[in-house]
Amino acid sequence: MFKRFHVETKGAALDHEVPRIEVFRDHDRCIGCGLCGKACVYGVHGREPSLGDFTKMALPVHERCVGCHRCVNECPKSALELRAHPEFLALGDAYYTPELIETLRYEAETGRVPVSGAGYRGPFTGPGFDRLWTDMSEIVRPTRDGIHGRETISTEAHLGRRPKRLEFTLDGRVATRLPPEVRLQAPFVLLPPPFAAPLAWRKALAEALAPAAAEAGVLLVVDEDVRPVAGGMRLSSAATADPSRYRGLAFVELRDTPDAERELETIRAASDVVVSVLLRASSGAAERGLGLAKAGAGLLHLAADPHGRWSDRPDKHLLDGLRELERALVDGGLRDEVTVVASGGIARAEHAPKAILCGADAVGLDLAALVALGLRRFDGAKGFFTPEEAGLQDADRARQRALNLLNSWRDQLLEVMGAMGLREARRMQGEEGRAMFYEDLQAEFLKLFTPPARKEFDPTYG
Ligand code: SF4
Ligand code: SF4
Repeated sequence: MFKRFHVETKGAALDHEVPRIEVFRDHDRCIGCGLCGKACVYGVHGREPSLGDFTKMALPVHERCVGCHRCVNECPKSALELRAHPEFLALGDAYYTPELIETLRYEAETGRVPVSGAGYRGPFTGPGFDRLWTDMSEIVRPTRDGIHGRETISTEAHLGRRPKRLEFTLDGRVATRLPPEVRLQAPFVLLPPPFAAPLAWRKALAEALAPAAAEAGVLLVVDEDVRPVAGGMRLSSAATADPSRYRGLAFVELRDTPDAERELETIRAASDVVVSVLLRASSGAAERGLGLAKAGAGLLHLAADPHGRWSDRPDKHLLDGLRELERALVDGGLRDEVTVVASGGIARAEHAPKAILCGADAVGLDLAALVALGLRRFDGAKGFFTPEEAGLQDADRARQRALNLLNSWRDQLLEVMGAMGLREARRMQGEEGRAMFYEDLQAEFLKLFTPPARKEFDPTYG
């Protein structure tokens, strides 16, 4: 009987979180009436009897405030104000903004889909992923039974080379030798951290992520020295013909070197493992990807930096690289045979469907996974993490937080697919018709207001 894929989530809060809100009390105005304490059901305001004066209010417990403004409205002296907490504003970096970190925190802590309220007050476009809108044209007619109902929506992704065609024997059996593939329940790959760290710390991270990856049905890739905790391994040196090096693995990743084609062959001869080639997003990556595909590569991993930028053109984004690679593979007649993983800057759940629409089969999580576990202070690609900063002291909690994050992202992918009327994540791959780029829409819109040339007659133009 069919069994719906399900991930068990439960609350997994960190011992200490940086408060988002600072509840500021103006002591010159406060008369100690205590109304704020009665108004707040979260216990932010209390008395401070240790001061020897029972009219004095204690310092607000900022961490508990949810920002409902009730106490602010109830205060008869207008002595209360809510501000963004200075520690909160100092979190992350220019890309991983405090708001983004807050979203990842909520997803990892609860496993739920974050809801920010009715209406949208933000800008309608921005750099990177924010210039792409997804076509939700089926939102008025969602699947008959809802995305979590009886109707199945598959978020599966299959990674590896695909045969161009299938051949059958006369009695109907498949005669084509099927290449190895990695099947994921959701199109997510947990990648090695983008930051340097001692081996013991990277091992602790991998040990926390491995059970979460197994439960969520996704792939964990670790550096070769961290083996054997995962199904995927990134080689630290050139491939060798020693089969024991690949034993027990489902996935091996090579760095792109001038010798990559030969290394690819070496591994394929030694083992039946899915081989990925790690391509840095840069000028020429699409052409190189096509060359590797022609040489037999079945899986290309296009990686931008942790902020989603190309290595040689910071003005270019991962999505640009994906679209170029997609076009090169289509033009080369190899798109159906090759699969693509995209990583770098994948920091929000919505980035996954956007990358998939531009040509990825799955997305890689690097820094986002560390932030979900607890990492709060870092600086772009120059970072460093310690087990304490990454919340690894409690391995079970770290596992649960990773699992919660994966579940929340999968649920959000289901929401997008439901609104698009798609029932298979694999059908989204390269579906650029479902992606609307701001620059294209703007050009189309501006054309409407361009007066026709004098000699033309256009009755629709006043
Ligand atoms: S804003 Fe709401 S949650 Fe925050 S302290 Fe005031 S009443 Fe409590
Ligand atoms: S309600 Fe206003 S005046 Fe009364 S104790 Fe609270 S902050 Fe002070």
